[in-house]
Amino acid sequence: MRFTHPEPPPSPTTVWPVFLPFAGCPYRCIYCAQDKQTGRDAADLDAILHGLEADLEQALARGRGPYEIAFYGGTFTALPEPWPAAFLDVAARYRERGLLTRVRCSTRPDCVDPGLLADLRGRGLDLVELGIQSFDDRALKRSGRGYTGDVAASACAVVRESGLGLGIQLLPGLPGDRPGVFADDVRRAAALRPETARLYPCLAIRGTPLEALWRHGAYEPWSLPRTRRELAEALPVLWGAGVRVIRLGLPPENTLEGHVLAGPWHPALGQSARGLALLGMVRDKVAESGLAPTRLDVPRRYQGELLGHGGELAGEYAALGLHRGAFRYVDGDEFVLR
Ligand code: SF4
Repeated sequence: MRFTHPEPPPSPTTVWPVFLPFAGCPYRCIYCAQDKQTGRDAADLDAILHGLEADLEQALARGRGPYEIAFYGGTFTALPEPWPAAFLDVAARYRERGLLTRVRCSTRPDCVDPGLLADLRGRGLDLVELGIQSFDDRALKRSGRGYTGDVAASACAVVRESGLGLGIQLLPGLPGDRPGVFADDVRRAAALRPETARLYPCLAIRGTPLEALWRHGAYEPWSLPRTRRELAEALPVLWGAGVRVIRLGLPPENTLEGHVLAGPWHPALGQSARGLALLGMVRDKVAESGLAPTRLDVPRRYQGELLGHGGELAGEYAALGLHRGAFRYVDGDEFVLR
């Protein structure tokens, strides 16, 4: 039996991230630790802009690229003047010179409006990633996000209607979470057909307001096994809607690990969840085929995640009849079950 992976093809360009920690944010969200993630307490926008220009010039001189530049870590659409235009103008200059091909930013759903987005699009912005976090009113309220699920959905529509690409970020396991909330959020996000999604399970990180809630027993993050399972269930829903899932869990950058007090953080969470999603797909194909398989050809691109982290799924594959020697890694896109 032949089949392909439902994941949309990866983006052909490399992202050049520019972190603007907390810049433009109306307040600090209870779970947010941009300072720990980026290693910076606050954004000195002038220094970041000048550093960026120097780095772009150097990359151009060295023949690097092309890149998609991404302004992350703050609320880009709420930056004070003249910063949105200043960053986009620098990006436009290097786009003209062939180093950059696209420009994206992240922002909050309550900080977009059609006039503003039209202006930013005119200056070269291509895609907006909205930090939706959840469409669930109770989770949004308990997390102090300051908007409702309907506002979050409307913001997605505003981005699309402005002619911009849409990215959605979800944060499963927020305060106020209940069973089924994340699965609903994933279905709602998939129905909006964003280009990309990021899934960042909520963590209690040192120095955040959520730390105090957790210390007082008022917040309990998801366990790692639950997170792995819920992410693995979310992936096929998003892939099936043509959504590229570009991040699962916070990246192991800077000093973050030392600041995670509680919650499902693991450097290989993405690999583990993707592997589990792939196992589910292979299981379904085995059932569908009616075969008692002994061999599986696997596109080389999935070699690193097939057996999960540290071979954790080897026993599950063996139970299907696919023992360690049963896998052959092949060029191309097709899985073949024999
Ligand atoms: S979660 Fe987003 S909006 Fe909230 S403080 Fe962090 S960067 Fe700012």
